[in-house]
Amino acid sequence: MNQQPALIDSHCHLDFSEFDPDRGQVITNAFEQGIKGICIPGTESARWSSLLQLCHENRHPVQLFPALGIHPWFVEQHQPDDLLLLEKNLKTNPQIVAVGEIGLDFAVQTVSHDLQTVWFCKQLELARQFSRPVILHARKAHDQILKQLRLNPVKQGGIVHAFSGSEQQAYQYIEQGFCLGFGGSITYPRASKIRALAASLPLSAIVLETDAPDMPLHGFQGQRNEPTRLTLVLDALAELRSETAADIAAATQHNTRKILSLPNPSYA
Ligand SMILES: [Zn+2]
Repeated sequence: MNQQPALIDSHCHLDFSEFDPDRGQVITNAFEQGIKGICIPGTESARWSSLLQLCHENRHPVQLFPALGIHPWFVEQHQPDDLLLLEKNLKTNPQIVAVGEIGLDFAVQTVSHDLQTVWFCKQLELARQFSRPVILHARKAHDQILKQLRLNPVKQGGIVHAFSGSEQQAYQYIEQGFCLGFGGSITYPRASKIRALAASLPLSAIVLETDAPDMPLHGFQGQRNEPTRLTLVLDALAELRSETAADIAAATQHNTRKILSLPNPSYA
């Protein structure tokens, strides 16, 4: 019998080509480690149909949940028609759990910050229009994102993936109905600031993620990251916090299901 606590990976790019050779095995391995659900955020319109197909035809025991969106790194490759396509998908496909991953990455200088902001706002509007939460990519732009969220509030809140901001910014997101995603970064002993935040924030505001195949954990640098390693993120968080791993697993799974309005687990 599987004694692993049930977990949901709230952010994993299982559709990326890095998983083409062995995607089924990766999913099976994740299931055997207790990962019962994986949310797969979209990054560019060219990948949306294969992402939806992967989630739709899923023959695996892990529930796969698609989100659709245009990642800030790729906005220059998109046209207004892509927003219409996103709108059409949101209108017709209730399986799409969120708009994402969208946001602002001002650590990147090669993509116009103004253009990122335009696409971010348009996608926030669609999220509001179609009552979906958002999955945010936010780097060196938390104050700008919080400002845009105040101007374009999303009714359903969302997740700030791979949270990297300050404690003050964390609470501003929480006030706007967001959860904060923590992943491999908390496994690095020198990441003291983010570890302190992960230790002190209310558990009700935390969700777990791997961001696989990216964001390798401490000890796995240079390797493809995998959803199975969510268990190691859980262990790292349990070492930092007062609650047990089982309590953290239950709470973060509940938080993810609630913020993304996920259907009830088939294994319950
Ligand atoms: Zn991502």
